[in-house]
Amino acid sequence: MLNENEKVIADKIRQLKQTSGSHSPSIYSLISEIEGFEIAIDACFLSNPYATDLFMRYFKEEVLNQNKLRGLLEFYPTQNRPLAAILSSTLGVDPECIFLGNGATEIIQTILHRFTKKKLLVTLPTFSPYYEFARSDTEVIFYTLDKRNDFKFDPDAWLKIVKKEKCDTVVLINPNNPDGGYLSQKELRTLLGALKEVDQVILDESFLHFSSEDSSCKLISNLPLLKEFPNLITIKSMSKDFGIAGIRAGYAIMPKEKVKELLKNGFLWNVSGLAEYFFRLYSTKQFREEYEQIRIKHLQGTQDFFKQLNAIKGINVYPSQANFFLIELPGVSSSEVALELLIRHGIYTRACDDKKGLEGSFIRIASRTPQENMKIAHCLSQVVSSHAKDPLFSTPM
Ligand SMILES: *Cc1c(COP(=O)(O)O)cnc(C)c1O
Repeated sequence: MLNENEKVIADKIRQLKQTSGSHSPSIYSLISEIEGFEIAIDACFLSNPYATDLFMRYFKEEVLNQNKLRGLLEFYPTQNRPLAAILSSTLGVDPECIFLGNGATEIIQTILHRFTKKKLLVTLPTFSPYYEFARSDTEVIFYTLDKRNDFKFDPDAWLKIVKKEKCDTVVLINPNNPDGGYLSQKELRTLLGALKEVDQVILDESFLHFSSEDSSCKLISNLPLLKEFPNLITIKSMSKDFGIAGIRAGYAIMPKEKVKELLKNGFLWNVSGLAEYFFRLYSTKQFREEYEQIRIKHLQGTQDFFKQLNAIKGINVYPSQANFFLIELPGVSSSEVALELLIRHGIYTRACDDKKGLEGSFIRIASRTPQENMKIAHCLSQVVSSHAKDPLFSTPM
């Protein structure tokens, strides 16, 4: 339970949350608006912390220590087209099929505005821009994942909606945010085969680097699917797996006519100098090899975190193929637990009580370093068991 002082802080956090819409207030706004406030662990943002360390090391060596920062800030960055050529050699994709964005969010917005016509199918719960940024003349149809079925995606039920509603654009986020639900490459191919009449299949792979289909943890790539299915558009944010949300970098792969159509309407210097630096770094073999090691390290750490969380009594942790876990807290308010974790223990998590399509009390927790994960599991267990003494908690639900 929060004491009087803590309640004052809790009110302030609630106010800040209100100004952030369906997202969480940034760490900056929390720290600058609340005096003396400190965040020890950010398990709200869903990134690989080792990747940020890796990026920073290169950035220091190659930019800061070489006095090159000024150039990145002073001059115009490279335009979208030539930058796509750099990424093209990294990914092994035709440059004309690559569209770079100021974060994946910009790409989502422009695709929904330019290509989606009448009906858009979105799975709930989800990353909210997929329905919030739809045009006012687009009808958004929802397919809601069922908690009683562990939020498992049901391809048959979903396809039925696609056909019945004649959706022109459908969105698949793989793994999905916020539950981490995953469609295997095999399942995806079958699904895409049944979607030939759909104009656009958006496949958001922003968390795919955290998934594994076997114990080798090999990087999964669905690039071959793009050749097979011309209506497929894949979207990838670099924010989460590379831990660089602040520089705003993302890309999409789609048929060249579509890229042309987007570029005709702007996006000349939409990728900043810092993001350009990242894409050039990403094109080097050395960086990619080092990244691969820490990608696997984080993936394995996340699997260990699942075991720790799963051992906590009184909560349900849903299986996830991403680097975060959706956790149900039966009989306890998720926003209370999140506030207590934040104010008392400095652990920032995501209460999901405002997530559309998610009924009940849920929080989403990102995996961090093993030390941080241990602390998160320990504090969560403490907070939940202190609430277990509430009369509300002990009533059979
Ligand atoms: C965070 C997120 C994005 C947006 O990433 P940015 O590149 O930072 O704009 C896109 N899709 C999903 C599923 C996300 O969770």
